[in-house]
Amino acid sequence: MSLGYAIDLHTHSLRSDGALEPADLVERAARRGVRIQALADHDTLAGAAEAIAAGDRLGVRIIPSTELNTESAWGDVHILGYFLDPADAALEERLCWLRENRGRRIELMVEKLNALGHPISLARVKEIAQGGSLGRPHVAQALFEAGHVATYDSAFDTIIAKDAPAYVSRVGLTPLEAVQLVVAHGGVPSLAHPFTVVGLEELMPLIAAAGLVGIEAYYGSHPPAMTATCLSLAGRYGLVPTGGSDFHGRGEHGAPLGGVFVPPETIGALEARRRPNAAATMAAVSVEGES
Ligand code: AMP
Ligand code: ZN
Ligand code: FE
Ligand code: FE
Repeated sequence: MSLGYAIDLHTHSLRSDGALEPADLVERAARRGVRIQALADHDTLAGAAEAIAAGDRLGVRIIPSTELNTESAWGDVHILGYFLDPADAALEERLCWLRENRGRRIELMVEKLNALGHPISLARVKEIAQGGSLGRPHVAQALFEAGHVATYDSAFDTIIAKDAPAYVSRVGLTPLEAVQLVVAHGGVPSLAHPFTVVGLEELMPLIAAAGLVGIEAYYGSHPPAMTATCLSLAGRYGLVPTGGSDFHGRGEHGAPLGGVFVPPETIGALEARRRPNAAATMAAVSVEGES
């Protein structure tokens, strides 16, 4: 039985803010007819090996990926990095720093929520995350359980919204740095859900010049006009239109697995834009030089 499309280039597991173990996520995707899936957990490649093992069993090709949420005046700029190497130690060091920053940010948000009269415990938030990269979704779940919000999703529009007093901004990468990080490590960067960017037309030439390869034109909550805008930007800057569900398995956010049509030629077009992992090559050269 196949209910979805064959390609899904944007999914999340329990290694970040999704609700399913990587193997369970791949299994559910396979049942929906997905054959090529990017596991794009925030700031981590920790689920890649498990997803690949499940994918081998179920006939799903897994593309090891990550999604880097950035901090800048451009609104929510999220950069997807495709074809990254889970064994790249220098990349893992950067991702580890981002995850530590996530942890401190969530700690501060929990402190603020407590001070503002919405008590939740950091221990419960961490328990919900089960070791995955911490994020607001885990806080939203804790707030829902404690009865501070009517639904999981409504937390994002109320007490942990960007303009709410409990919100703490991110310490992390700028959009340009995120694109450059992916490129330096032999990955292929794509701009996720461009409708969340503030000033998209102005940002595009900057991130295109930094090495952006793709733009997520196909996305569940994109109105047709937004997809058309993305396709026109893809034409202007020579980008590959990408797409995916952004499935988390929590609340109403994202589409079902395989729920968004992605053209089959997308994968070949992305692969054709892969470049060697310059950061790993440089690290290897310096190790050789030392011996
Ligand atoms: P954070 O990166 O910690 O600020 O949390 C934002 C993340 O929450 C995004 O990457 C989304 O994937 C996720 N999320 C889940 N549900 C929602 C929602 N209803 N509204 C906004 N973001 C959501
Ligand atoms: Zn997320
Ligand atoms: Fe995102
Ligand atoms: Fe996402």
